[in-house]
Amino acid sequence: MTVTHDQVLEAIENIAETIENNETRLNELDSKIGDGDHGVNLKNGFRAVLESQEELKAKEDIGAILQEVGQILIDETGGSVGILYGTAFREAGTAVEGTESLELDDMVDMAAAACDEVERRGQVSTGEKTMFDTLKPFSDALAEAAESGYSESKALRYAESKAEEGMVKTEEMVARKGRAKYFGEDTLGHRDVGAVSTYLILSTAVETVTEDQSN
Ligand code: ADP
Ligand code: MG
Repeated sequence: MTVTHDQVLEAIENIAETIENNETRLNELDSKIGDGDHGVNLKNGFRAVLESQEELKAKEDIGAILQEVGQILIDETGGSVGILYGTAFREAGTAVEGTESLELDDMVDMAAAACDEVERRGQVSTGEKTMFDTLKPFSDALAEAAESGYSESKALRYAESKAEEGMVKTEEMVARKGRAKYFGEDTLGHRDVGAVSTYLILSTAVETVTEDQSN
């Protein structure tokens, strides 16, 4: 299985749609231990991405497409985390610059680049109840699956399941970053909204590219 240029564009479109469909749910989650704007922030960013679809389609290079998506998210997503989501996409793009289709190793590199960027820019580590608690297990699991010789679709689905576990585990964490940290122990029992939106993004991408793959 190789991920084509058209599948990347389709994944981006599907992600934008998923975010839009979950706007209210994300706002509600954020309102429990934050300021209730995460859904609308991301929706604004991804709507701007959709509005640039034609421009994105004109690019052959998948790296350049993702860099452009990242730049749009940086410019158009509100909140303090637009920069984190935007630079994650941008760095994933930089990792595969000049590529017109993606193999599993490319996807491993993309995930690692996005993960490193969030870790560095957000000054975050695992267990602090953030988007990183979804992204990091995804990236690690994808690398591990590639090492073990899994097929691409099996590796992606495995990584998706680890991302989901990471997202769920944020319920047991006390927030150490972002606005949620001001809620301290009261954040226990709540899922981190960034962990949820990151799972939505990753799982939508995985579902799109593995759609017709049974192994
Ligand atoms: P804001 O906090 O500005 O209102 P959002 O509500 O859009 O921004 O996003 C909140 C999410 O951002 C949190 O749920 C968390 O996952 C993520 N986040 C916040 N600070 C950091 C950080 N330093 N590193 C990684 N992720 C972070
Ligand atoms: Mg918020």
